[in-house]
Parts: sequence; C-alpha cells; structure tokens
Amino acid sequence: MSDRKQRLLEAMATLGLGQQPQSIINGELVDGAGAAVTLIDPFTEEELFTYPDADTALANKACDAAQSAQPAWAKGISPAARGQVMQDISRAVLANVEPLATIEAIVAGKPIRDCRIEVAKVAEMFAYYAGWADKLHGEVIPVPSGHLNYTLREPLGVVFQITPWNAPVFTAGWQIAPAIATGNGVVIKPSELTPITTVALIKLAEAAGLPRGLVNVLCGLGPTSGQAAIEHPAIRKVVFVGSPETGRRVAIAAASALKPVVLELGGKSANIVFDDANLEHACLGAQAAIFSGAGQSCVAGSRLLVQKSVYEKFVSLLSTGMNSISLGDPLDERNEIGPISNARQFAHVTSMISQAEGEGASVLSRTEKHNSGYFVAPTVLRGLSNTSTPAREEIFGPVVTAIPFEDEADAIALANDTSFGLAGAVWTSDVGRAHRVAEAVRAGTFWINSYKAIHVSSPFGGSLNSGFGRSSGTDGLMEYTSAKSVWLDSAPTPRIAFGYVS
Ligand code: NAD
Repeated sequence: MSDRKQRLLEAMATLGLGQQPQSIINGELVDGAGAAVTLIDPFTEEELFTYPDADTALANKACDAAQSAQPAWAKGISPAARGQVMQDISRAVLANVEPLATIEAIVAGKPIRDCRIEVAKVAEMFAYYAGWADKLHGEVIPVPSGHLNYTLREPLGVVFQITPWNAPVFTAGWQIAPAIATGNGVVIKPSELTPITTVALIKLAEAAGLPRGLVNVLCGLGPTSGQAAIEHPAIRKVVFVGSPETGRRVAIAAASALKPVVLELGGKSANIVFDDANLEHACLGAQAAIFSGAGQSCVAGSRLLVQKSVYEKFVSLLSTGMNSISLGDPLDERNEIGPISNARQFAHVTSMISQAEGEGASVLSRTEKHNSGYFVAPTVLRGLSNTSTPAREEIFGPVVTAIPFEDEADAIALANDTSFGLAGAVWTSDVGRAHRVAEAVRAGTFWINSYKAIHVSSPFGGSLNSGFGRSSGTDGLMEYTSAKSVWLDSAPTPRIAFGYVS
C-alpha cells in the first residue's frame, strides 16, 4: 500500500470511518449493493477504492430515516437547543481540520492549504446558522377583516441535496447547516468521486449531538440513488449543486414529482479590467479568479475582459505572474494548484484547449513535467472573440480567455453576452463606473476591485444556465422554510360569510 493510501486510511480511521467509502443511514455506516465505483488519486493516478454504489434500496432507506428523525428535531427540542447542537458541530469540525483536509486533498486533488480553509468555513457555516435556529419567526399581518392573521415559518420536512466534486465538504456544510437550522431532515448525495468528507462530517456531527438519522449520506451515483431519492415521497425539495446538464435532468425529474428545486450551476464569469485600474492588483486578482483551485470553481473568472489600451501590458503581466504559481502534490504545503480532480474533467479541459487552438487561439502556458497526475498548467488563450467556444462554454480548469474591449458600454455588452449569470468583477479606480458596471452586469455575485470574496452571511446564486434560487445568508435559510398563514377570528360573533370574509 502506498504512503498516501496509508495516510488516507489513517485520516478516515481518526474520523471513525471504515476502510472504504460507505453511506451513512440512521447513524450506521453501510455498503450499497450497486455497481462498482472507482476512486483514483488525481496526483498519482493510483486506484484508491472500488466501492459499491448506494443503490435505490439504500436511497429509500435514507429518505425513510430522515422522515422518522425530522419531527423530533423540528418540534421535540427547543430552537435554542438545536442551535446549541450546531455550535457543538462547528467546534467538532474545527477540532478535526487536519484529517478532513487530508482526505479532501488526496481524493479531490485540492491543495491542502485550500482544504484547511474550506473545512474552517464549514465550521463557520454551522456557527452562523446555529445563531439563526432561535431567531426564525413569522409575522403578524394587519389584514382588513379584523382577524388576527399571522405566519408560522415552518421547515419543509426532508430535503434532498446533491453536490459536486470540486469543493465537497464545503458544499455539504453550505447546504446542510441552513437545512437543519430550520428544522429539516436531510438526505445528501455527494459526488460519487469525492464522498468521504461528507460522511465524515456527519459522523462528527452525530458524535457532537446531531440525532442519528436526521442527516443521511448516500455514497453513489446520480442516476440510481440520486434519481430514487428525488422520487421518494418524503422529499419536499431538491437542492442541486453541479453542472447545467445534470441540473436540467434533476429539475425535470423533480418537476415530474412536482417538487421544487434550487439549482446552483456553472458559470462563465467576466472579470473586467479598465485601464484606470491598479493593474498589479488586478493581475493578482485575475490569477486568483481563474487559477486558484485549478480553475475548478463555479465563480472562476474565466472570461478576462481587458480594455484595449492596456490589453498587451496586462496579458504580459498575467503570463509572467502565472509562471511563478507553484503546481504539484496537493499534500505539499507549498503548492498553490494541484491536478485536475478527475480523469473525465482532465479530458474535458485538455480538449477545450485543443478546441481553442482549432479556433485560432494563441495559447500562453508553460510546459509541465510530472511523472503522473492530471496536471494542466495555468493557461491564457488570446486571439479569440467572445463568440468562440472557450469563451462560451464552461471549461472548469485553469484556462482563461483574454478578450479586449473598447469602452464601458462594450465591456458591459460583452460581459452580458453569455448564457450564464453567476458572478463577475470589475477593476477600476473610478467609483462611479464601478457602481454602474456592478448594476449593469447580470450576475448573482459581483466584486469591485476584488474576486472570490464570499461569506456564509451573504446570498449566493445565479440566473439562466447558472441556475436559480439562493444559498447562504437569510435568502439561503428561507429556501428551507415555508410560511403558513393562520387566521384567528377573535370577534364575539364569528364573521362568517357565505363566500369570502373581507
Ligand atoms: P455534475 O453535474 O456532473 O454532478 C453533480 C452531482 O450530480 C453529483 O453528485 C452527481 O453524482 C449527481 N448526478 C449526476 N447525474 C444525476 C442524476 N441523473 N440524478 C441525480 N443526481 C445526479 O457536476 P460535477 O462535474 O460534479 O461538478 C462541476 C459542476 O458543478 C460545474 O459546472 C460547476 O460550475 C458546478 N458548481 C456550481 C456551484 C454553484 O454554487 N453554482 C458550486 C460548485 C460547482
């Protein structure tokens, strides 16, 4: 057994997991009985595990377990006590940053320093939503009929969450924390390629006081356990984080069962640099926007729009800067970028670079020599227009298309000429322009002289092919509740009418 596999198994054992990915149903680690799923270390290309898919029977058990556990969590304890459990979960996560980050770094290929930050953010998410558990309330509405009319803000029941491989434990915490703060039960299906940290998170949460069965994790494939959970009658809402193609499939399946969905999908975000910007800062921002996480981020600044007057200078700054980004073993503290997370994504990114060349791009990159691993070096594509394939389709790799623009109107038009609507940024020293551009660009999140600033308290989400609905903040919380309207007639003689009481 390799040292890495040994390290992975040790981290899993520390967190109370077995020797391979297992689902967690009603507090028990269980194997599925479906087709074999293989996990490959993206740095060594060594096989890590082959485990059985959580089949449809397990999906049904997971939904049943959440349905049984949810009423006691919603009504059996006080909201403050729910918040207290969530604070304890937050502390448990913080106490286990190292094993969680180690698993994520090996399995997802993400630099360990990024993994540590993401795990710490999970702790922050539980602490933030813990505070909301006893602050959710309805309102009294001054209706004209003289009734006392008030709303009760209620949990939905059981929700089903589907998450991708690019930030597994981060995305799990992001969706589980608001769901349980509001009294829901959860079934979550992480990507079959990176399921372990989500299971570990629930193991830790249960040890910290989360009732067994309230949150159940399915380690397996979308079309089997995923589809079965969408259809299960206990599921009241589906929250999907992933690609537009799968999102569409999930939305159609949910619509057939008349279930609402939140879709957090991909992006093709415009990062706009005006000639009056501090170009050094903008260049560092542009690198972070597209190269961090090896570009495998939904908000990646994958379209770099640069004002014509500084285009040559900026691209030259960027290509110099990207040469010093350290790329290599995700477990090495010094590395800023690891490999692409899996073979399928590696094939997609490399084919998009070939496609760009075919469409006439000049490709600025560096030659990488690695004995193994799905490595793609930071890459700038120039000579392409906004209508080229690499500027229109999500690459989800460290590849940016640099496109020149004339003026503010041109920049806004180019930024909005996309089928996505997730994020964007502007770099300028003109505060008026910054506000105008922020207002005009269609995006759920927009940064001014910044990139990738995010916090659990601030709403996040997209439009068009980037999805709909919101996560984080109070908007994210409300997605997991519904309002019930209650009417009480306190008049001595009830105001009954044969029709409407008004
Ligand atoms: P994906 O769509 O391939 O898979 C996402 C999840 O869907 C996985 O858990 C997968 O098993 C599941 N799935 C697949 N088929 C299914 C089916 N028929 N029914 C139910 N579930 C099914 O996405 P990916 O490749 O894992 O992740 C990359 C994508 O995620 C990118 O497009 C990225 O932009 C997006 N993403 C979006 C956000 C956001 O917040 N907007 C965050 C992270 C990633």
